[in-house]
Amino acid sequence: MIVVMKPGATQQDVQHVADLVLEFGLKEHTIVGTDRTVIACIGDKRSVDKSALENAPMVDRIVPILAPYKMASKEVRKTASEISLMPGGPTIGGAKIAVIAGPCSVESRDQILRTAQAVADAGGVALRGGAFKPRTSPYSFQGMGEEGLELLAEARERTGLAIVTEVIGVEQVEVCAAYSDVLQIGARNMQHYPLLEAMGRQDKPVLLKRGMSAKLEEWLLAAEYIINAGNPNVILCERGIRTFEDYVRNTLPLAVVPELKERTHLPVVVDPSHGTGHAHLVPSMCKAAIAAGADGLIVECHPDPERATSDGAQSITPGALYDLMTPLRRIAEAVGREL
Ligand code: PEP
Ligand code: MN
Repeated sequence: MIVVMKPGATQQDVQHVADLVLEFGLKEHTIVGTDRTVIACIGDKRSVDKSALENAPMVDRIVPILAPYKMASKEVRKTASEISLMPGGPTIGGAKIAVIAGPCSVESRDQILRTAQAVADAGGVALRGGAFKPRTSPYSFQGMGEEGLELLAEARERTGLAIVTEVIGVEQVEVCAAYSDVLQIGARNMQHYPLLEAMGRQDKPVLLKRGMSAKLEEWLLAAEYIINAGNPNVILCERGIRTFEDYVRNTLPLAVVPELKERTHLPVVVDPSHGTGHAHLVPSMCKAAIAAGADGLIVECHPDPERATSDGAQSITPGALYDLMTPLRRIAEAVGREL
């Protein structure tokens, strides 16, 4: 349930309610809005003396949270969450659309530095690149590991781009958080609950990809795991789902974007590279994603896609990324956003 404070409630009034909630054995999560503060109460409501809360000073009303995901829900926070990708750096979830681009895998110093420069020149705000790769086959390239993270950090130093990289196991959270700015949870790990909880215990924002066979509600509950464990900065990423269709690697269900906008305050990013599997389809789906209301894009971009160690077929070139930005800017403007 949510305790809605009256406009003008002081910090002391809010603290008093928060203390009562804790006393009743629930977890509290205070959200300060522009005109009023709400306190989400998470846990078993049977131990709560509702009238004590209702009658506390400056409490307006108590409303139940109907969605099974609580803190991720719009019921708790009506306004969109704007998340900083790095301290003092670009944000996602506000008026400006964030473009994240880079190779599937970090392969070499030359590859990542060249790509980073191209992403910065195109107007991207963050560089993606996997150092630990969740590959379907154990015989495929598994990533450069910590050496790859060092190269990503060097690319950030040279370009100012935020770094987005995937964490595939709990034991890598610390090293990935030390080198990068945003931690990605891949589709294969969306229901890896101990990993989600570990994401909640560290303070870098998390890009949470939708599992390839996860329903919308399961995805939002995965986000809830991270928020419940202490990290509210979750960015949702639609990367396509498995269907019977095979002209694409995955089916990119863009209707999820406006649906998410009705259900959650968390920013939504679309990944048309994994979402289609084919570089020639990526520009159109980037445009469609922005038109549908996405807050950002994450695109695979490689200076030599034919020789990429992973996902070359769905990686666009730096030139294609650069050319894409002009129509994307126009579409962003048409839907009341900036890029
Ligand atoms: C990736 O981003 O390269 C990746 C492995 O994505 P996903 O988890 O969506 O398959
Ligand atoms: Mn990839």
